[in-house]
Amino acid sequence: MIHLTERVRVYTGHINVGVLLADDGAVLIDCCADAAQAVGRLAPAGVGKVAFTHYHRDQTGGLTALASAGARVCVPEGERDLFDNVEAHWADPARRWHLYDDHPFPPVRTTSVPVAQSYANGDTFLHGDTRVTVLHTPGHTNGSVSYLVDDDGRRVAFVGDVLCEGGRLWDIHSLQKGEEGLTDYHGFLGARAELAESLERLRDAAPDVIVPSHGGIIQDPQGAIAALLERLEACYDQYASVSALRFYFPRMFTEFDGREDHMPIRDGMDPPSFLRHVGTSWIVVSDNREAYVMDCGSPRVLESLGEMREGGEIDSVTGLWITHYHDDHVDEIPAFQAAHDCVTRADGTVADVVTRPAAHRIPCISPSVARVDHVTAEGESWEWNEFRMTAYHFPGQTYYHGGLLAEGHGTRLFFAGDSFTPGGMDDYCAMNRNLLGRGRGYDRCLALLEELKPTHIFNCHVDAAFAFTDAQVLQMRENLRAREESFGDLCAWEHVNYGLDMHWVRCDPYEQRVAAGDAATVRVCVTNYSDGARVVGAQLDTPSGWSAPATASATIPAGADGSVPFRVRVPLGTPSGRYVVPADITYHGRPLGPIREAIVEVV
Ligand SMILES: [Zn+2]
Ligand SMILES: [Zn+2]
Repeated sequence: MIHLTERVRVYTGHINVGVLLADDGAVLIDCCADAAQAVGRLAPAGVGKVAFTHYHRDQTGGLTALASAGARVCVPEGERDLFDNVEAHWADPARRWHLYDDHPFPPVRTTSVPVAQSYANGDTFLHGDTRVTVLHTPGHTNGSVSYLVDDDGRRVAFVGDVLCEGGRLWDIHSLQKGEEGLTDYHGFLGARAELAESLERLRDAAPDVIVPSHGGIIQDPQGAIAALLERLEACYDQYASVSALRFYFPRMFTEFDGREDHMPIRDGMDPPSFLRHVGTSWIVVSDNREAYVMDCGSPRVLESLGEMREGGEIDSVTGLWITHYHDDHVDEIPAFQAAHDCVTRADGTVADVVTRPAAHRIPCISPSVARVDHVTAEGESWEWNEFRMTAYHFPGQTYYHGGLLAEGHGTRLFFAGDSFTPGGMDDYCAMNRNLLGRGRGYDRCLALLEELKPTHIFNCHVDAAFAFTDAQVLQMRENLRAREESFGDLCAWEHVNYGLDMHWVRCDPYEQRVAAGDAATVRVCVTNYSDGARVVGAQLDTPSGWSAPATASATIPAGADGSVPFRVRVPLGTPSGRYVVPADITYHGRPLGPIREAIVEVV
């Protein structure tokens, strides 16, 4: 327990918990289970109130017990539903499928608690002689608040996840937010302006120290706030300078007009005459009038194939390639497969999502289950009429993505899915898992373009073909290299990918159906982005009455994926329904709390 004043203390558990002491009991700011016990020893009158900075599950450990012991639960005005009506969140299909808007971000609590009061900007309360003022500080979440605590001539700010020590962020992906009528999907760092206003409000409040939820206490608030404001702008500039969104939504980037260091947008070229573009599909037509189709996201593709056959342009459809799992590329694949008897090929990462979508909770995911007949190996080639096709893993727009080279008629056509446009890289949604680092993510894609030297690149959403110059490919690779460092400085973790990639820890399957009396199997999967091996410990917080597996752990080599397997027996007689099972994570000796979940649907 750290003493900031005689009556204001910080309990350091998996988060920092504010403890305000007075004769008539304690007030906690956020909570974790051990904090409640530790405070019980200090404050014989118990915990009278818990005030939350935001709704995240890792901020609320031990809350159910505190609330049933009589503590008043006080929450940010904008997030009341995420405390007292969480069932609506978990039952909402919009929070599960076709995810384009991902506010509120997981992790949401699994059970509701009654809320005594909600706080708005400027609200105050007295606890003994300690005065507390509420400040609305959105950014990390839409409703986040900070608490300014004045005691004994000192002002302490408890800020949740607004910023960390040194002017860093606990995570970058939570700033994903749509601007100006766009979905969150296109809003990489979209909450930065809102966060900047929150930081300015905090700066004006002139606290002596800031207590963030994660990491050390900030002894130099003004310095940390200034550093974070500067980093946010510099990182956004770097992202924008090679962003494909400049091609789709130029109005989002007018602040950078005339910037010569931002990559120029390429002119389009006419596609070769043997290609057709329909919806998000490219179709290759061979000399003997067969069609090779990439993706099938809408009924229009099937209608067009029918029209091409009636018009004598094609006789049959003899191949399907799936570029990536997004709904606008796969929704109609089951109908396509019923209509056309041909081999479906996909990269292993793509096949994993489209054949078992319930196992994943990632952006734009479709519940349509597709069949994949052949999972391609890296660099595997096959002949299709006069064309030679070669398949690659292509982790660009999303990690679950393939690239296809088609050589024929004197051309080298590269089908890049949604991963590049004439404006650059489509890395505008952090939840798609755009990883930084040499050989990962877009760096891997660019290295492949350098090697393959395609004559034409095709994006599923763009009618024209395009190509990058060698210098542009180099510019994008250098940008990514610089970003690993600058975004690394923005992020409180030892490697930026922990802060960028929400899915560095994930439950597989995310969702499954189990009959009461049977067992559910869940693997807690972790990608280790560190230079050394890391131990991950995991525990499932199963509903009462279910067999609760003990904590288990695994050692994951540097740069690799690993997992901790669990088997959970669902007792006979368990009522049907969807059960959210949080996974509590410890990583490299650091407890992180119940930051992920699996869903078990009992039938
Ligand atoms: Zn949080
Ligand atoms: Zn896509």
